[in-house]
Amino acid sequence: MSLQSVPATPNNFAVWFNYAMGTSPALRKTIDILIGNKRKFDSAINHELYVTYVNPQSNAGTAAGDFPEQLQGVISTARQFLAAAISDNRTQIEALGEVSSQVETTSDPRSIIEKLVTELSKATTRASTLEANFAETSHELDKIRDSLKLAEQRSNTDALTGLANRRSLDEFFRSALIATMETGEPLSTLMIDIDHFKKFNDSFGHQVGDQVLRLVAKVMLDSVRDVDHAARYGGEELIAVLPGTDLAACAAIAERIRRRISEARLTRRATGEEISSVTVSIGVAQFRMAESAEAMIERCDRALYQAKQSGRNRTVTEKDIDGDVAAA
Ligand code: GH3
Ligand code: MG
Ligand code: MG
Repeated sequence: MSLQSVPATPNNFAVWFNYAMGTSPALRKTIDILIGNKRKFDSAINHELYVTYVNPQSNAGTAAGDFPEQLQGVISTARQFLAAAISDNRTQIEALGEVSSQVETTSDPRSIIEKLVTELSKATTRASTLEANFAETSHELDKIRDSLKLAEQRSNTDALTGLANRRSLDEFFRSALIATMETGEPLSTLMIDIDHFKKFNDSFGHQVGDQVLRLVAKVMLDSVRDVDHAARYGGEELIAVLPGTDLAACAAIAERIRRRISEARLTRRATGEEISSVTVSIGVAQFRMAESAEAMIERCDRALYQAKQSGRNRTVTEKDIDGDVAAA
């Protein structure tokens, strides 16, 4: 740990203890790749190793103290009515016990029957109230679960395009890059930038600009698999990360996206008038073991810049960049 300048925290100790004991071959392999490639063990990597290999729960769910107030309310209601149900049950058993002890002493069976009927009808009323309470609480819980799910979705989604947002992309990179190092499979990224996008805004208005952006996002999303991660990277820059895909395969997918966009016809909703064709430039790069996501994106960006420089409406991979980039 000290050789790699890993701070001596309990979580880091847990990770490196596992490493030293060799209990998890996957953890060992990942750390060896990181060391072999001289990757710095920063707090993000340390956290990710801990979450991936030692305590997956530590990243999931909310602590009890963070529960929304709404949920606390429902739980306390549920507790109250359970307590009421239990105490009701006791009262009822006591009442019935009383009736049965009277059976021996009373000669009038009608009064016994009347008492029994009264007790039973009280019990029925209590049971119906309980049932109604229970149904209401279950319904409340369903609503809370739905709204939590929606909130989570919203926090990971870009509202304009419906693609994943930056936050979600960062999260995806954290787990996907570790998985890639573990399996040794390739992973590639393509970055799209709309050509002369300003022109659409300037000549047709911002709303048409938004429409163009949504079109490009849709074509990109439709062209990748479910396991891929399609996100809005910046204003008019979109990104797709493709696990298990090498540079050449990723470039082929990028080309397909580029062609589909250039063939799409877009009409102005208000007037039905056709908007001049949309084209995009795309940069492609492949992950190099143990590098950071930023380093890969930086090469993507340079390839994209090259695509713009050499005339737009084209795909350029990191291999085609002029100058200093060594082959992977
Ligand atoms: P290039 O071919 O070099 O990429 O030219 P460009 O006009 O696309 O380049 P530039 O980066 O200069 O312009 C991007 C424009 O995208 C500027 C900004 O106003 C616009 N933009 C960014 N986000 C949005 C958005 O969400 N909606 C709309 N309508 N426009 C946006
Ligand atoms: Mg741009
Ligand atoms: Mg642009």
